[in-house]
Amino acid sequence: MKLHEYQSKAIFAKYGIPIPKGTIAENAEAARQVASQLGKKVVIKSQVLVGGRGKAGGIKVAATPDDAETIADQILGMTIKGLPVRKVLVDEAINIAREIYLGVVVDRATRRATMMGSAAGGVEIEEVARVSPEKIIRVAIDPAFGLQDYQARELAFAIGIDKANVREFTAIATGLYRAFVDVDASLAEINPLVVTGEGKLIAADGKIVLDDNALYRHLDLEQLRDVDEESSEEQQARKAGLSYVKLDGNIGCMVNGAGLAMATMDVIKFYGGEPANFLDIGGGAKADKVKIALEIILSDPNVKAVLFNIFGGITRGDEVARGIVEGLKGVKTNVPMVARIVGTNAEEGRKILANANMLTAETLEEGAQKAVAAARGQV
Ligand code: GDP
Ligand code: MN
Repeated sequence: MKLHEYQSKAIFAKYGIPIPKGTIAENAEAARQVASQLGKKVVIKSQVLVGGRGKAGGIKVAATPDDAETIADQILGMTIKGLPVRKVLVDEAINIAREIYLGVVVDRATRRATMMGSAAGGVEIEEVARVSPEKIIRVAIDPAFGLQDYQARELAFAIGIDKANVREFTAIATGLYRAFVDVDASLAEINPLVVTGEGKLIAADGKIVLDDNALYRHLDLEQLRDVDEESSEEQQARKAGLSYVKLDGNIGCMVNGAGLAMATMDVIKFYGGEPANFLDIGGGAKADKVKIALEIILSDPNVKAVLFNIFGGITRGDEVARGIVEGLKGVKTNVPMVARIVGTNAEEGRKILANANMLTAETLEEGAQKAVAAARGQV
């Protein structure tokens, strides 16, 4: 679950990270009031859960409360990367001398939380990683000891922080790491961490992604969820306990197990297809979940074929097949469906599905090729 900039910054502030003064506004008049209370130049920032708001025109400086009202009105009418702007953050404007990147992520390779810093801040870090990866300095953090001061100092020197700011930087890095651990984040980043014209460090932007698997122990953070920012499919999937990520391809995937879902997507791509989604319906394949999953997949107009890839371990293949047939009832569609079932009673399961007009396959290779062909209309 992603947090908004204003929510992330509020968490950062609790950990001693300096943030600009500011308040959220849901209409232009409120933005004017905040600007007039702050009594100085402000920056109006769209609160949508995507990066690159600046480039999209969703972040603008306003010199006067009048300007703030006009600009807020304009930004509140925008849609950025498909997401309507419903709130703006009105922050006191910062006098920017330098923009730095500072973030903590879970790094699978080192199996540690890793702090990343870069002198190339302000731009999207994925872009820096792609074009000039040497500009990103990484520090792996030992979970038993936490971020050590010497590590933060090394990072500070590597990205060219002034001697005068090193102590401040260390405090910010430590706060960021602590916040990351305490909220069970998978990502916590400040981009940009600004060096102001007055020689101070301040977090001009904030982003936290919470680990959904740990949300059950952060009910206060769960409350911060902005359902306006979730697509209706994502909401449906979350409520049904499905893991769903929409992608740009045309082959819908319905799979039981996250690893199997990834393998399925790989094999689809291997045979020249493009998956329309990642979807893990979890263990077994109960009719109610299959039904919701199908509705979600088919609500995507790009989907031209659906591939079921079910591994029956403890669950029996015929049971799963009945679940699928049951789930298909009442779902009207002409989209061709291919099912690959393996495991206990797979044979019986395939018969049930073939009787229900589904294409069946014995191997994933065969299933993926049939789905790719079906998506091209070559059934
Ligand atoms: P993002 O584009 O979604 O990452 O949004 P950011 O909050 O990072 O803002 C993008 C850019 O807008 C920053 O890198 C800054 O260059 C600029 N910006 C943000 N806040 C201020 C501010 O208070 N003053 C000035 N002058 N520029 C700002
Ligand atoms: Mn940013």
